[in-house]
Amino acid sequence: MARTFFVGGNFKLNGNKKSIKEIVERLNNASLPENVEVVICPPAAYLDYAVSLVNKKQVTVGAQNTYLKASGAYTGENSVDQVKDTGAKWVILGHSERRSYFHEDDKTVADKTKFALDNGVGVILCIGETLEEKKAGITLEVVERQLTAVLAEVKDWTNVVIAYEPVWAIGSGLAATPEDAQEIHASIRKFLASKLGQATADQIRILYGGSANGSNAVTFKDKADVDGFLVGGASLKPEFVDIINSRN
Ligand code: PGA
Repeated sequence: MARTFFVGGNFKLNGNKKSIKEIVERLNNASLPENVEVVICPPAAYLDYAVSLVNKKQVTVGAQNTYLKASGAYTGENSVDQVKDTGAKWVILGHSERRSYFHEDDKTVADKTKFALDNGVGVILCIGETLEEKKAGITLEVVERQLTAVLAEVKDWTNVVIAYEPVWAIGSGLAATPEDAQEIHASIRKFLASKLGQATADQIRILYGGSANGSNAVTFKDKADVDGFLVGGASLKPEFVDIINSRN
C-alpha cells in the first residue's frame, strides 16, 4: 500500500491571530493534491482558533506538545484530552527543542507518545542526531536508541508518523541531502521492520525535517523512504504550499 504523502507545519512559538489566519486562509485557498495529509501545529493558545479556520479536507491541526496526564494539578501543561476537544488530531512529540531546552529524555518522550496514542491523538515522533553525534558516526545508534524507548511502550504504530530531524539541520538553512536522508530513512525502516515486521514498517510514514523549504522539497521527490516533511520556518511562509505540492 502506498504511503500517503504527509507534510507537518511546526509553527513553534511563533504567530498571532492575524498571522495564523493568513496561513490557514492561504491553505484553504490553495490548490493542493487530493492525496496529501497536511497537519499544521500552531502554539497551544491558537489550537482552537486554527481548527475553527481550517476549511480544507487535506488539512488538520496538531499540538506541539502534550503531557502524561489528561487533567489535574499540572500548571502550564497541555492535556491530550483538551487538545482533542479543540478538534486537533495530532501532537508533535520528541522534538529536539523539547529534548534540549525542556530536558525531555527518551523515556519521557516514549511515555508521552503512549499516552497520546492511547487517548486517540496521533503522534509525529521526532528523532535525530546532533552535529557531535553525526561527526562521531553514531547517527544510527542515536535514532535507534530513541526509537527503542518508544518501541518498549508502544505496540500499535498505526497512528505514529516518524520525523527524522537531524538537529544540525533544524533552523540552520543546511538541510540534509536527499541522498543522505534516504539512506537514514531506509535504515530507520529496516530497524522498524526488525522490531515490528516488514508489513508494519512499510506502512509507517518517515518524514524528513530540518531546513526543508519551497525549493529543496522537490529534490526529495524520488526518494523512496522520504514520505513527507516536518517543516518549521517555511511553514509560516507562502512556500509551505510549494512543499505540499512538491510531489506533483
Ligand atoms: P526548520 O525546523 O524547518 O525551521 O529547520 C524544522 C523543525 O524544527 O521541525
